[in-house]
Amino acid sequence: MQLSELHTGEKAVIAKVSGHGSFRKRLIEMGFIRGKSVRVILNAPLKDPIEYEILGYKVSLRREEAAKIEVISEEEAKAHIATEHTGESLPAILDREISELAEERGRNIRVALVGNPNCGKTSLFNIASGAHEHVGNYSGVTVDAKEGRFEHKGYKITLVDLPGTYSLSAYSPEELYVRKNLLEHTPDVVLNVVDASNIERNLYLTAQLIDMNLPVVMALNMYDELKAKGDSIDIKQLGYLLGMPVCPTVCRDGQGVGDLFDTVVEMYENPSPRLARHIHINHGKDLEQSIDRIKLIFQKDKDLRARFSTRYLAIKALEEDSDIEKVIDTLPFAGEVKTARDEENARIQRILGSNAESAIVDAKYAFIQGALAETWTHAEGAPKHTLTDRIDAVVTNKWLAFPIFIAILYLIFTATFTLGEYPMNWIDWLVGKFGDLVAALMPDGWLKDLLVDGIIAGVGSVLVFLPNILILYFFISIMEDSGYMARTAFIVDKLMHHLGLHGKSFIPMVMGFGCNVPAIMATRTIESRKSRLITIALIPFMSCAGRLPIFVLLAGAFFPKHAALALLCIYALGVVLAILSALVMKHIIKDDDLPFVMELPPYRIPTAKAIGRHTWEKGRQYLQKMATTILIASVVIWALGYYPKNDALPRSEQQEQSWLGHIGKAVAPVLDPLGFDWRMDVGLITGVAAKELVVSSLGVMYAGEEGDEVDENDTALQSALKSTVPLPVAVAFMIFILLYFPCIATFVAIKNETGRWAWAWGICAYTMAIAWVFAWLGKLVCELII
Ligand code: GDP
Ligand code: MG
Repeated sequence: MQLSELHTGEKAVIAKVSGHGSFRKRLIEMGFIRGKSVRVILNAPLKDPIEYEILGYKVSLRREEAAKIEVISEEEAKAHIATEHTGESLPAILDREISELAEERGRNIRVALVGNPNCGKTSLFNIASGAHEHVGNYSGVTVDAKEGRFEHKGYKITLVDLPGTYSLSAYSPEELYVRKNLLEHTPDVVLNVVDASNIERNLYLTAQLIDMNLPVVMALNMYDELKAKGDSIDIKQLGYLLGMPVCPTVCRDGQGVGDLFDTVVEMYENPSPRLARHIHINHGKDLEQSIDRIKLIFQKDKDLRARFSTRYLAIKALEEDSDIEKVIDTLPFAGEVKTARDEENARIQRILGSNAESAIVDAKYAFIQGALAETWTHAEGAPKHTLTDRIDAVVTNKWLAFPIFIAILYLIFTATFTLGEYPMNWIDWLVGKFGDLVAALMPDGWLKDLLVDGIIAGVGSVLVFLPNILILYFFISIMEDSGYMARTAFIVDKLMHHLGLHGKSFIPMVMGFGCNVPAIMATRTIESRKSRLITIALIPFMSCAGRLPIFVLLAGAFFPKHAALALLCIYALGVVLAILSALVMKHIIKDDDLPFVMELPPYRIPTAKAIGRHTWEKGRQYLQKMATTILIASVVIWALGYYPKNDALPRSEQQEQSWLGHIGKAVAPVLDPLGFDWRMDVGLITGVAAKELVVSSLGVMYAGEEGDEVDENDTALQSALKSTVPLPVAVAFMIFILLYFPCIATFVAIKNETGRWAWAWGICAYTMAIAWVFAWLGKLVCELII
């Protein structure tokens, strides 16, 4: 618990002190050190400050300050003591237990990973904590903070993987998020991961961390690439100039990570001046004068001093940072700060000819350049054109870019479907055998029917697509990890821009062909809210793998000679409608356009481990979806089709009499103009749970239907459909399936990612309307042609 939560008269032992540098130092100097006991002399509920006794003398702390000290109280210790104890008196045991607990708690270190996108934070996180986070060679892969725990030499380290940011200003949600995390959750040590192959830009963030006066350790990552270029860095000197320990690492394979965490522990336990010193980045005489003036005003508030470094506040105030502005507004002397700031800003403008914000940026870069000039040696005659440049010259070439890109996409989709077919058939066979086995072993009854026709058949019809999903994600991972995915965003940005979208929208849209759910989640990397919303609205038009079996079934039955072409047309229709919708929505959703800022990382050979992990992760998500949504949906649909039970009737008639049949007939009037019969309507309803279910429910309902013109290559279901459904209706059905309501999982994903039910319902209504209109048109056109 925190020291501030102790009541009057209670005793506790200090476990750890957090907070920014100078604040923490002051508390430690006053005797607030791990293992020391404190007693509360007076802590009245509303009284501030609180009076404590420590090391035999009395001190008072503000509530805000006491909240930064973690302690172990008697209550906590009692909860830990075993019931029987040996001879010793209870107080003695209690005292020992408190100290032990405080010692143990003190050995928990919270470490936050901060760095630019794509600098290797997640690789470090995975290597250190043994976790399986997604590593990708393009920016913005980590969108939430992930926590991982591990032990290092008797210390329990909690690592927090934060999203990548280029700076800590208040521009993007990521930046604010990281900043908030640093200021409010006060990590014990900040681990600044720096990409050594891109050091100058990476150090800008480091310079901002220095302002915040937090205990920072730097991991100079991608050290292998720096060495490969033939460059060298004087690490000791760089660490001295920046005032923080610098450890070279290669997070891809774990080199230097052990030493890195040794340094983190040392930084936490005993930050000697040799290891770290508090430096001020000199922003030049004029800016420093302004910073000092504002800093002095902030120092009047003790609470504020506990929470922030006042120098940091002063710099941010000069930059007119919108988030710090809110903090200022809560102060009694807000007016004074603002006047001083405006006067100083005007003065800077007069003297330096630019506003304070850009003057501060310039000064930071000057500091970085100075530090690098002293420490960084470039290789002699380093090649001007790196391998990355040479590859880019080809794959982003004006003429070659699109052919190469389309060829790669074509390759991926053929591989997904042709290679996937073999394991798909095996799984299909296995599921069938398993169903037969269960059917043979169990006595007749509803339980057997539920297991065999409901659960095994339902889940099985979805399980068969697992290989396709794995193959698709295998390729997507290679594209991401190698760095090619970032190029695709670059190539298509101009096209996308015409649609009110961003190059980054493209990646989620491609993923939509696999499954709409992860695709919608992947839109988080798009900064512009407008682009993001439009992208989410378009993804349901990307025909997901779940819809594929229906198309294969119908195209095979109705266009036996041109099945592949029919399939292609269906996919193309989805894409065309997505484009048209984007053109409309672009005028409806209003938002600022953000510039295309996306880094093109150097190409890197993906590690087999990362690809394996990533592919499996997606496979796991798919299986999870199956285990939950689809299992429940299969059971519900089975039950609706099974009851009311009537053994006297043949299967298909019983279906017609069932609740499912009634529901199908209830919606029939709406769908009648499209020519669907009630069984197709029911199929569509089951597709709401998951598109994969349409085929299996059609299979159940058409069972027993005789086809007249039996074709050897057709399955039973295909010939049954052919004999009852006219061609134009089949076309309308395919179009309707392509466009109507995204499945429940997608619906929920839309709600979660946009934060509004209205969006989910809106997209739902929109897709339904489009589906109806285009299915009707499709039928009309077919009737005219025939
Ligand atoms: P994050 O965006 O900061 O989380 O970065 P990631 O951990 O996702 O890594 C980005 C890319 O850099 C991936 O392709 C990694 O395999 C690669 N990478 C990470 N650390 C190193 C390293 O030390 N050396 C090299 N050569 N590549 C690395
Ligand atoms: Mg990451």
